Amino acid sequence: MTPTMLPPIYNFSAGPAALPSEVVRRIREDLPSWQGQGVSIMEISHRTPEFESLAQSVEATLRDLLNIPDQYHILFMQGGGRAQYAMLPLNLLDNKSTVDYFNTGIWSEIAIAEASRYAHVNIVASNKGDDFKTLPLDSDTYRLDPKAAYVHYVSNETINGIEFYEPPFVQNTPLIADMSSDLLSKPINVNQFSLIYACAQKNLGIAGLTLVIIKDDLLGKAHPLTPTLYNYQTYVDTGSLYNTPPTFAWYVTGLVLEWLKAQGGVEAIYAVNQRKAKKLYDFIDQHPFYRNSVAAACRSRMNVVFHLANPDETSRFLVESRAAGLYALKGHSRLGGLRASLYNSMPEAGVDALITFMSEFAP
Ligand SMILES: *Cc1c(COP(=O)(O)O)cnc(C)c1O
Repeated sequence: MTPTMLPPIYNFSAGPAALPSEVVRRIREDLPSWQGQGVSIMEISHRTPEFESLAQSVEATLRDLLNIPDQYHILFMQGGGRAQYAMLPLNLLDNKSTVDYFNTGIWSEIAIAEASRYAHVNIVASNKGDDFKTLPLDSDTYRLDPKAAYVHYVSNETINGIEFYEPPFVQNTPLIADMSSDLLSKPINVNQFSLIYACAQKNLGIAGLTLVIIKDDLLGKAHPLTPTLYNYQTYVDTGSLYNTPPTFAWYVTGLVLEWLKAQGGVEAIYAVNQRKAKKLYDFIDQHPFYRNSVAAACRSRMNVVFHLANPDETSRFLVESRAAGLYALKGHSRLGGLRASLYNSMPEAGVDALITFMSEFAP
């Protein structure tokens, strides 16, 4: 084995991202024979009582972890974050023609482009002029359209490394959040939202499953041409079992939620997440060889985007960090540089190992 072929010790991938090692171990144990049935979870019908009870238990655990009130439905969908970008206007526009969007980074821009195919998109606020290194946090500057069907924002911009620590302050318009990369990383008050969605492959499991938490007063407004499979009502009516769901991904999310509960839940992991991110940002700030240009008020605790004072050293940084067991530190292709994703599954020791490597690597 060459050094670069050693298995990674810590996986900083932005997504699909690392699972907790306990979850991977559990999957390996379960794989040949799930619940002693002699067949794997991948080989049973989603109509079996065993799968239905798994589905119910995943929902109950999620409700418990996020204190989700009864008037919210939890839907288990497919299509990732991007399918939601189309489903939102299709399902929620009703007889309106305008939707409000915050434009706070690359994921916002993708969401806006898709919504624009169906509705007039009013930009509530944007810090594109700052290269998305800051967030519009002053609600006095928001230009909300009183006739908008909803207002959408991206809670954590995974590529730009910026995060709303609190939801933007808006009143009288249903608030919708893309929490694909920060759901369950911090406490939220679900009552502030009309709809929250997240693809699973960042913080909740593996690719294939998308969670939607929707307040019941948003249902029943879908455009008549909305595909049955893309209508939120279908999932409410069938317990998300209208078509064959991604059963394995659903099962993995169940394991991740159980793991999170065993860590003490969202409050407990939030304390760890804050500590991990602060450690890394503090190190970058005090070290002349490393740079982070995101404003302090909105630095993402999930995705730390940084670069080297001498960018010519980036390739060597990636080769040597990989050889040191630190996997997937390359920045997104749109921004270059480096990115360390510190989702719930990243232990604090992984951040310590990264900092040790960074101080040894610097000249
Ligand atoms: C990853 C991600 C998505 C999209 O995920 P897909 O499942 O690839 O469509 C959307 N929004 C945010 C904030 C993300 O991080």
